[in-house]
Amino acid sequence: MPELPEVETIKNELKPFLINKRIIGVKLENKKIIGYPKPKDFLKKIINKKILNIDRKGKYLILKLSENYNLTFHLRLSGRLIYDENLEDKVKYTRIKFLFNKGTLSFSEPRLLGRVYLYPVDELPKSLSSLNNLGKEPLMPEFNFQYLKTKIKNRHTNIKSLLLDQKIACGVGNIYSDEALFCAKIHPKRKGSSLKDEEIKRLVKCLKKIIKIAINKKGTSISDYLRPDGKVGSFQKYLKVFRKEGERCIRCNGKIRRIKINNRSSYFCPNCQKEV
Ligand SMILES: [Zn+2]
Repeated sequence: MPELPEVETIKNELKPFLINKRIIGVKLENKKIIGYPKPKDFLKKIINKKILNIDRKGKYLILKLSENYNLTFHLRLSGRLIYDENLEDKVKYTRIKFLFNKGTLSFSEPRLLGRVYLYPVDELPKSLSSLNNLGKEPLMPEFNFQYLKTKIKNRHTNIKSLLLDQKIACGVGNIYSDEALFCAKIHPKRKGSSLKDEEIKRLVKCLKKIIKIAINKKGTSISDYLRPDGKVGSFQKYLKVFRKEGERCIRCNGKIRRIKINNRSSYFCPNCQKEV
């Protein structure tokens, strides 16, 4: 569930606490949380590495460590990173905890789908090879009309699924694709190839606008997502269609509907977003 705005918020808010901190210990609660390398090697190699910077690529959070190592987190659906200045064990579902001289970083993940990876910068593990194939992110200047048109013009897949494809709109997930399609007045089931130039232009604009506001509002706390200090984001107050089935459309007073596309719920206004 954490999408680009949530992971960007986590990055921004962890930075002041984590940069220049040295990892002096690790408390591993569940081995499954480690995606790479083997837990034994992970625990050995991580010790004494210093956090130099924090990056984000799509929905991945990348801690740049000393000795040219990356510590990469993929939060998946319910993963949380909680920083705690004190050493209290108050974070539920903590699967791994990093200890510093002062403070701890807990990776909590109720569903155990998220993973953490440790690897030398130039030796990306196979399980992370998708990091090399990510598309442009909506806030990049290169994410423009030409870019999106090239990506979708020959595709007979629906636009909702195309937006969820990380090779096309990197960082976009279920929430922001629904909100952007509503903003651009495009039905989620329209085929990529059927979109007119005007619609693609609107969609690019809407994606940029919504992602930008969502970052300003520190993300959407609608199910599991919390910020590193345990506080909520506030973009949920600005959602127009996502999880609003049966509610009124703010534009036309129509009723918001929910449909399943590739097994995932999609919310839209059938009046503002026509299928043909
Ligand atoms: Zn409407």
